[in-house]
Amino acid sequence: MEAISKNFFLYLSNNKVLDRLAKRFGTRFGADKIVGGETFSQAIPLIKQLNHDGLQVTVDHLGEFVDSEAESRKRSQECIETIQAIAHHQLNSEISLKLTSLGLDLNKELVMENMERISQEAERHDITVTIDMEDSSRCGETLEIYKALKEKYHNLGTVIQAYLYRSNEDVDELHAYDPYLRLVKGAYKESGKVAFADKPEVDANLKRLIKKNLLNGHYTAIASHDDAIINFTKELVKEHGISTDQFEFQMLYGMRNQTQYDLLKEGYKVRVYMPYGDDWYGYFMRRLAERPANIAFAIKGIFSK
Ligand SMILES: Cc1cc2nc3c(=O)[nH]c(=O)nc-3n(C[C@H](O)[C@H](O)[C@H](O)COP(=O)(O)OP(=O)(O)OC[C@H]3O[C@@H](n4cnc5c(N)ncnc54)[C@H](O)[C@@H]3O)c2cc1C
Repeated sequence: MEAISKNFFLYLSNNKVLDRLAKRFGTRFGADKIVGGETFSQAIPLIKQLNHDGLQVTVDHLGEFVDSEAESRKRSQECIETIQAIAHHQLNSEISLKLTSLGLDLNKELVMENMERISQEAERHDITVTIDMEDSSRCGETLEIYKALKEKYHNLGTVIQAYLYRSNEDVDELHAYDPYLRLVKGAYKESGKVAFADKPEVDANLKRLIKKNLLNGHYTAIASHDDAIINFTKELVKEHGISTDQFEFQMLYGMRNQTQYDLLKEGYKVRVYMPYGDDWYGYFMRRLAERPANIAFAIKGIFSK
């Protein structure tokens, strides 16, 4: 049943007609519970409230692939303006972005040019930029770009996915770059040739990666809603005397809100990943696919309007 509903929502996530309809009706039918708004301005009061409560934020302008150089430059300009708005409004927020939105599939020089501009602006305002990790076919190139930029810019993070076989080696290689790594299980549909298919293997690998990156002395974001992973981290840092300044928990906006506040109360740093933008439809459907229980609040959203 779970597999059927997962495939159903993944199928819907690619439906262009529903995507167009979604853009027309906006996020009010439930998506506003997990998306910060259709514009960054709409997200600002929400970020202020989260900051006021003690939660830190990373914002992500939704939208992945671009078809032209002009579009990729427009995307990078939007990132720059978001960084400027974060600084202007004195928000406690970083930004997350996807390299495909900056032209990764078009040409590598273009991405580097866009990332240079974004990184310079981020450095000027002391705001961290995290490069999200996309599907495995883009992992190698994404890490090469990260390493090249990390030689020049300090405030840069990226993501390692525990489901990939290569991730242990990647964390070893990144050691020399003093990386800021967000460690996740991985969200894309991958083949058994490159990724663990079994959930227990993914979970065990995520624990190994968390331990390795923390013991290597690097700043680590543990991005998971899974109590087993969160409790593992708590035990590990206690055992090794790792300071709360060296790591943070990250969760998606609207997911496990109570847990976010509980962790804060226990003295941990918690960051909320808040997507925004009018391209919210695919993101919303992928979250429904990931956890059918999320459908409950979507339905509640529809009937409460
Ligand atoms: C901040 C952040 C950034 C991310 N960035 C990336 C990225 O760049 N690239 C990428 O591939 N993936 C990314 N992901 C997604 C990630 O890879 C996983 O697909 C996603 O987080 C689901 O895995 P999980 O560890 O949260 O728990 P799961 O393995 O989905 O769930 C494990 C258990 O956790 C509990 N649980 C999970 N969700 C909930 C919930 N909403 N409410 C209550 N209990 C719950 C349940 O008990 C569940 O059985 C990101 C995730 C987060 C949180």
